[in-house]
Amino acid sequence: MTDNREKVAADFRNEISHAFEPGAKVMSADRELRYCLELQRDRLEKRNLRYKEEMIHRGPFPNGLSRVRSWKDGHYDTSWTVDFITHNRTIQRDGMKTYRKSVPQSIYETVVGVRDGEDVSGDRYSCPNCGSVSTIAELQEGCAHCGTHFEMSELYPKVKNYYFVFDMSGKAEKMFKTVVEYGLYLLPVNILMCLSVIAKTYGGLGALASPRVLFTALVTTVIMIPIIGFFGWFLDCFRRAFTVMPSLFEVIGSRTRFESHMSVISPEFTLEYFAAKMMSLFKIFVFSDKRAELPFYRGSGNGEEFDNIVDVASKGYIACKSVRATGNMVNVTADLYFENSRDLGNKIKTRDEVYRIKAGRRTDIPYENNFSITNIQCSSCGGSFDAFKSRTCPYCGTEYDQEKNDWVIYEMKNVGTLIRLRRIVTGLIIVAVLVSSCLVTLSEAGVLDRFSFF
Ligand SMILES: [Zn+2]
Ligand SMILES: [Zn+2]
Repeated sequence: MTDNREKVAADFRNEISHAFEPGAKVMSADRELRYCLELQRDRLEKRNLRYKEEMIHRGPFPNGLSRVRSWKDGHYDTSWTVDFITHNRTIQRDGMKTYRKSVPQSIYETVVGVRDGEDVSGDRYSCPNCGSVSTIAELQEGCAHCGTHFEMSELYPKVKNYYFVFDMSGKAEKMFKTVVEYGLYLLPVNILMCLSVIAKTYGGLGALASPRVLFTALVTTVIMIPIIGFFGWFLDCFRRAFTVMPSLFEVIGSRTRFESHMSVISPEFTLEYFAAKMMSLFKIFVFSDKRAELPFYRGSGNGEEFDNIVDVASKGYIACKSVRATGNMVNVTADLYFENSRDLGNKIKTRDEVYRIKAGRRTDIPYENNFSITNIQCSSCGGSFDAFKSRTCPYCGTEYDQEKNDWVIYEMKNVGTLIRLRRIVTGLIIVAVLVSSCLVTLSEAGVLDRFSFF
């Protein structure tokens, strides 16, 4: 089956720029991601924040690149679409310092389709409650005439997840600006270096009284700004890669660990599908006001640490820690990496955060590939509501007995500090080993004897 995933991905890039406008529905996203965006809009509104997001396309590929990577499992055909953008974000509120960020990035969209699925989106269906006829696609958010909600299969293909990766390609002037910025931060280092060279050459700083020496020193300092800036930027990239990104081994190991275990237990899941699912569930939990009501959350605690988060950007990496099968359940522990923006009242602060998630899923319920649709009705009062969003009837409070055949989350824990500390310690050990081996080599070569300070 050929699907229109290019179009879905392009629609999505267009729709998310307007996702926070009143009444907007991001129909190119699957129902979980769509719900994340609705909850985020409510959070922003409640906090009186105006969020503006703009993605300006750049680069030589007018429609982005489809299927840069793809994975097929028992049921799903998952792929990545990439587009190159200048990503502008502003978050504003009266009396608050406006948050402004413009970054060259590539946007990755995880597009999911079903293999051998039939396209029923255009089929007509008569609402069992009011009898009005709509297409299946129109019923995704409930019957427009009477508000009846349906439990129906997702109308694939849909965008299941998206994330941004810093991307400097084709941005030479931006690079120079960044390097100069770093150079200015490092100006004290620059001046110190210059002074020490003068002191060494002329045997003291008195030489600066000569206009010729002073002029040369000033020119050298200015020339050195971008050069020192470049080294600073380079080291900073290295530091960032080391402190907040999972190591390459961890990510590669993750895929193998997840897939080798999963292929035996439940072949319908690739790591991409699982990662996208977890990112969405995490975001729903973060932005929800009624966390205890969420059908997928079985953990303790009401997550008040998430209350001031106003934006969650997935970094796209997941590190799978363990996959265990017990009885009719499979349990997975994984670390998810985010850049979270928090509303601190007088400003917005963005930082990298890592959350360890423990999730589980039943393995004894067979996957249903055929399209299904049923209206959801409360057994007690007959009211209709979206059981995907809430586990109890909003009219009378009766719990909806939904057969549990999807992922459930048991625990969510911030492990960012732990991971950062571990990396810093590892880094220090590596530096210590390098420095001491250098010193040993130099002293063996007799170089150190020539320096009086050793
Ligand atoms: Zn109806
Ligand atoms: Zn009810």
